[in-house]
Amino acid sequence: MFYNSTRDSDVRVSSAEAITQGISADGGLFVPDSIPLITPEEITKLGDMSYADRAAFIFAKYLTDFSEAEIHYCTDNAYSTKNFETESIAEMSHLFDGTYMLELWHGPTCAFKDMALQILPYFLTTSVKKINLDKKIVILVATSGDTGKAALEGFKDVEGTQIMVFYPEQGVSPMQKRQMKTQEGGNVGVCALKGNFDDCQNGVKAIFTNDEVKEKLSSGGKMFSSANSINWGRLVPQIVYYISAYAELVKDGEIALGDKINICVPTGNFGNILAAYYAKHMGIPVNKLICASNINNVLTDFINTGVYDRNRQFYATCSPSMDILISSNLERLLYLMTGRDDALIREWFGKLASEGRYEVSDDVKKMLSDEFWGGFCDDKQTKETIGEIYRKFSYTCDTHTAVAVKVYEDYKRETGDTTKTIIASTASPYKFSSSVLEAIEDAKSEMDEYSMVDRLAELSDIPVPSALAELKNKPERFSDSIEKSDMKDYVLAHLL
Ligand SMILES: *Cc1c(COP(=O)(O)O)cnc(C)c1O
Repeated sequence: MFYNSTRDSDVRVSSAEAITQGISADGGLFVPDSIPLITPEEITKLGDMSYADRAAFIFAKYLTDFSEAEIHYCTDNAYSTKNFETESIAEMSHLFDGTYMLELWHGPTCAFKDMALQILPYFLTTSVKKINLDKKIVILVATSGDTGKAALEGFKDVEGTQIMVFYPEQGVSPMQKRQMKTQEGGNVGVCALKGNFDDCQNGVKAIFTNDEVKEKLSSGGKMFSSANSINWGRLVPQIVYYISAYAELVKDGEIALGDKINICVPTGNFGNILAAYYAKHMGIPVNKLICASNINNVLTDFINTGVYDRNRQFYATCSPSMDILISSNLERLLYLMTGRDDALIREWFGKLASEGRYEVSDDVKKMLSDEFWGGFCDDKQTKETIGEIYRKFSYTCDTHTAVAVKVYEDYKRETGDTTKTIIASTASPYKFSSSVLEAIEDAKSEMDEYSMVDRLAELSDIPVPSALAELKNKPERFSDSIEKSDMKDYVLAHLL
C-alpha cells in the first residue's frame, strides 16, 4: 500500500515515509491509496484476540512495508497493562439499553489521545530505521492541554527521540499544568509561554520551517517530526478501537454479526470520527456516524449545509479539547468523497486559507448527509447531561463525552432510530473535575483541584486513575516560562 497527498495524487510514498514526514511537502495530508477490507470471518476471529493482537492484525493491512515482527514490537510495547489500567485497553461499559460507552481514557494521561500517542513513538522510530535515516527524531508540540501530556508520556525515554512541549501559561487547566510540570523522562522538555495557544502554535510552526534551526539540527544528526493528528500514524491506531468494539459486541452476543450500529463521537479536529468512517468503509456495518460538537459548531453547520465557514466567534467552553474552528482531518474525508480529486481539494482548502470559507458540491453534500448526522450543545446542556446520567444511571462522564451523549439523545428523538450505538468516551471525568462536580452537585466548588478529585471519588463508582492520584506527590521538574520572542533560542539551547 502507498500513500498519496490530498493535494497531489501523484505523490506516492510508503507508510514509513508518510509517518516520518507527518505532512506532505505540498501542505496536503497523507491518505492510503485504497481502503483495505475486513471480512465477517476476520471480525469473528478478532473477537478472540487481545487488543494488541487486534491492532497488529489491522495495522498489517495499512503498514504493508512493516514486517510482522516490527508491527508486534510496536503493539506489544504500546498496548499492555504497563501503560493502561484495564486489560481490555479500550473498555466498554453499558450505559442504557442499546447504548455502549467506549472508554478510551484508561491510558497514562486519562484522555483518548493515549490510544494513538502510546504507539506513535514506536511507529516513528521503526519507520526512521526502515528508511535508513539514521537521525534522532525531535518532536515539537504546541498544546492546549491533552495532546502535549499524551505526547510526553508516549515519547518519554523512547530511544532515538527527544520531545519539547510548549503550552500557554494561562491557557490550560490546573490539572493539565501539574501533569506537564511533573513529567518524568530523560528526553523530555516542557516550557510555558507568555501568550495564548495560537502563539505557541505559530512559534512551533516558525521553528519547524526555520532554515537555520533545521541546518543546526541536521548537522547534529537530528530531524523534526510531528505528533499531532495530521500524522497518519496517529489516525490508524484510532481505526482499531472501533473495529475492536464491534468484534467485542458480536462476541458478547449484544449484536449479531452483520447487524448495523451507530457510532457517536465528540469531535474537534475530526480525527476520531474520521477513524470511525474508515472502520465503516473497511466493512464494519455502520448505519450513521453521529458528529457531536460543542457551541463551536462549525461541523454541525457543515454537515447540514455543505458550507464550511470559520468566520465566526470562537468560544472557550467546558469541553476545551473541542474548541476548534479548523478541523484539519476533514480534508481527508473530502478527498475520499470527491473520488480523490486533488484539484478540487486544492481549490476548497485554498479558499479556506484565503476567505475562511468554502462550499462543497451537491454530490458531496448528499454523501455527507447520507453518512453523517451532526448536532451540538452548549455548556449548560453539557452540565445538565452529566447530572442527568449520573442520577439516572449512576454513571459519571466528562464534559466532552457528555456533549456526545446529549447529541445522541437529540438524534434519537429527531429520527426515532433505535439502532444500537457506541458512544466514544474521550476523557476521564477526573481530568475535568471542576465542571463535572459542578454538574453533579449543582454548585460551583471552591475547593482546590485535588480536593475536587477526592470529592468526585466519593460520589462516583469510577476509581481515581492512579496517574492523577500520584501527581499530588510528584516534584515539579519544569518551571521555565518564556516570552514568545525567545522560543527559537530556547529550542536551540535545549535540543542541540
Ligand atoms: C482531542 C479530544 C477530542 C476531539 O477529538 P478530535 O479527534 O480532535 O475530533 C475530544 N475529546 C477529548 C477529551 C479530546 O482530548
